[in-house]
Amino acid sequence: MDDFIQPLSDDFPDILFIKGKNNARYPYSNSLLIGDHLIDTGISPNHLRKLKRAFPINHVLFTHWHEDHISGNYLLNNVKFYSHSKDKLPIENVEKMIPLYNVRNTPVEEELISLIKLLRMQNIKIDALIEDNDIVDIGNQLKLKVLFTPGHTAGHCAFYELNSKIAFLGDIDLTRHPYYGNLDANLIEFEESIAKIKSLDVNIVVTGHRGIIEGKNKINEEIEKYKSILQGRDERILAFFSERSRAIKLNDFKNRNIIYRKYTAFKDFEVIAELLMIKKHIEKFQNADVIMEEKKGYMLS
Ligand SMILES: [Zn+2]
Repeated sequence: MDDFIQPLSDDFPDILFIKGKNNARYPYSNSLLIGDHLIDTGISPNHLRKLKRAFPINHVLFTHWHEDHISGNYLLNNVKFYSHSKDKLPIENVEKMIPLYNVRNTPVEEELISLIKLLRMQNIKIDALIEDNDIVDIGNQLKLKVLFTPGHTAGHCAFYELNSKIAFLGDIDLTRHPYYGNLDANLIEFEESIAKIKSLDVNIVVTGHRGIIEGKNKINEEIEKYKSILQGRDERILAFFSERSRAIKLNDFKNRNIIYRKYTAFKDFEVIAELLMIKKHIEKFQNADVIMEEKKGYMLS
């Protein structure tokens, strides 16, 4: 078997971890193959071609609409595609990603269009919708439960196989870079979804951009680390307010490395995403009456 294809448990040989190219670093991501059901298609065209040759794939379930999770769709003919209703549109029409990333009429718009072309992304039709608590019967004792876990996108779903207690968490990715930088993201929901994942009785989890994490204790530890990153961001944003005794506009946060401690080669995009993410924190603070909005901008309450 190719080394990017890896069984997760001796007792469940039909559940395979499919590692994305370059360690699943963007623009690639990991997948899970359960029987003939594949979760996400961003492992890379090469990997996907090899996987198709080795295993029948008849169904594709999407965790969410992001390009790094759907880019291989064009290689899968004669399969049925499934997503949550709230993520259906940008999967069916990939140009809808541009307004969702809030990059229309910025230099990043061109970059994103080039990336869509480079990845040879194509529109597909979603054949059926999935929603919270749906059980997909895979056969061979495998039952995959849909966990609606919005926040990263509006329709993000994780998947949990009931017998093996193996879960695929999509982009609740347990890396050092939690992401909610698109217009349909929501930080309050994201944190609720993390809590929902934490309450799961799991043995093994796999995420879109991290490999295998095994054992409930280790998994809990990683979830706590992930939450502490969000908390660090909360604190830096609140500190920004307390260091200035005046109303703050969202643009005052621009280019200040509050979320991205270092910008990379994708700086133009990161600066836009960072502002969107800061906005999500501010919305959370407004919801908790910690911050209020006045004519001149945002203030601590
Ligand atoms: Zn994503």
